[in-house]
Amino acid sequence: MPHISTGEMLREAVRKQTPLGELAKVKMEAGELVPDEVVCGIVKERIAEPDCGGGFILDGFPRTLAQAECLDCLVRGDPRGVPTVLDIRVDPETLVKRTVGRLTCPVCGEIYNVFYRPPKDDEVCDTHGVKLVRRADDNEETFRQRLLAYQNQTMPLIEHYRRSGALVEVEGDGDPPVITQRLFELLGEG
Ligand code: AMP
Repeated sequence: MPHISTGEMLREAVRKQTPLGELAKVKMEAGELVPDEVVCGIVKERIAEPDCGGGFILDGFPRTLAQAECLDCLVRGDPRGVPTVLDIRVDPETLVKRTVGRLTCPVCGEIYNVFYRPPKDDEVCDTHGVKLVRRADDNEETFRQRLLAYQNQTMPLIEHYRRSGALVEVEGDGDPPVITQRLFELLGEG
């Protein structure tokens, strides 16, 4: 299934300096959410593409009640069935280290972390030998704003999806393979 990250789509628009990118850049660097109608528009277009015919994974969407309502509309009566919503729970102190320590290889997209999974050589990809990059919003100050946006605008979605029976909650502490296994077990695919 295609992995659709709204953050990654927005970063791509910023890199390409499109009008969408210009608008998104300011919000992203401030740790604020990009307006609902903009994000809903790009998701609507993306999930209509042929590779989404067998289903898709949305990452970082929906983040507000308005976005959740938009998604509810988009998938209402869909033959692929109702979405499952995953809430990966991580305490804020772990989150800050995962965020400010994150480094990505611009060639293969591999994610390292200076605290949890450092590269063998300082800030260089083990496989490609190129300098790893840090996201513009992965600094402590912007992280605090992003956490506030999450608490104020995204947390209410937990109740929304709990009520509808779509919510699956998973403990997000530990290494990625451990969490992946936990997820598969919860989804009945372990
Ligand atoms: P992420 O890559 O998911 O951490 O998102 C990075 C940033 O992109 C967020 O802090 C927001 O500024 C923006 N963004 C990503 N997804 C959304 C969304 N669903 N709604 C609003 N803004 C978003």
